[in-house]
Amino acid sequence: MHILIAEDDNVTRRMLQRTLENWGHTVTATQNGDDAWQAFLELDVRLIITDWIMPGMDGLELCQRIRTHTTGSSHPVYIMLLTSRGSVQDLAAGLNAGADDFISKPFSQDELRARVQAGERIVALQQELIRAREEMERLALTDSLTDMFNRRALIEIMRKDEDRCRRQGKPISLVLGDIDNFKWINDTYGHQTGDRILKMVSQCLRASIRTGDHAGRWGGEEFVLVLPGADIIQSAEIAERCRALLEAQRITLSDGSVLKMTASFGAACTEGLHRTDIMTLVQEADKAMYWAKDSGRNRVKIYISSADQEFRKAG
Ligand code: GH3
Ligand code: MG
Ligand code: MG
Ligand code: MG
Repeated sequence: MHILIAEDDNVTRRMLQRTLENWGHTVTATQNGDDAWQAFLELDVRLIITDWIMPGMDGLELCQRIRTHTTGSSHPVYIMLLTSRGSVQDLAAGLNAGADDFISKPFSQDELRARVQAGERIVALQQELIRAREEMERLALTDSLTDMFNRRALIEIMRKDEDRCRRQGKPISLVLGDIDNFKWINDTYGHQTGDRILKMVSQCLRASIRTGDHAGRWGGEEFVLVLPGADIIQSAEIAERCRALLEAQRITLSDGSVLKMTASFGAACTEGLHRTDIMTLVQEADKAMYWAKDSGRNRVKIYISSADQEFRKAG
């Protein structure tokens, strides 16, 4: 473990450093709070042993700064305050400043070892918790079959991107793609083949977008592309590129037969509109996608609100 020491007394500092190094730790030793703070910012330390009274920044202030800096961070640190002060008020002040533990001077090697080991255990536990939480957050936003963003993640992304685009006065487009006759594919070739196709489609879509764009699985056999900055023409072009790429795919089945598939796409854009709720944009892309289905599948349609009226009349 990388340990940072802040101690102005030469004898104590050298003794601490030598002892901790003998126990196999990497040690950075500093003589005051300011140097320790700099070292903390530059290094990746997990445990800090700091004296209380030092010239310049004292141990309490160092504790406070480190706590403020690490709040919400994914790098836990454990702080031990070295002190000859033992009053209840002093302990409370130390804890309030963010210290995790105290060692009273003079201390024995056995006590130091036990306290450092306790610190190591706490840091390891905190790291494990943080890792588990991050993994859970990732899983909650990921579709397990395709490893793409799921609907929840897409909605979050769309909201953020729409906000940003509106502030920048830029359009944002959505493309909704739906695999054609997927039920038939499942019924004819089995669910496993269906799953293979979903994975293949996700790879094609991801390969077709630029950085800053996002692709995800909306649900079932439906996919969404979020295209910040793209106008309706550009989004139709991207959708057409995806459509052509999918049409060109050949899936070889275990019996050697070769399967083809297609998908229909709808695109919608906020351009020219005052303010579009992002879920309205999803509905518009969905309508355009249904026009593509109704027009014979394997094609791209864009949403135009006047066409919506025409379509309703005709329907
Ligand atoms: P259309 O061309 O009109 O879109 O017809 P379709 O058959 O693709 O549409 P429909 O909504 O009738 O069927 C969608 C199918 O997608 C039905 C469902 O079983 C299948 N499906 C949804 N999720 C999965 C999945 O995770 N794996 C597999 N293999 N199939 C899925
Ligand atoms: Mg001192
Ligand atoms: Mg569908
Ligand atoms: Mg479908």
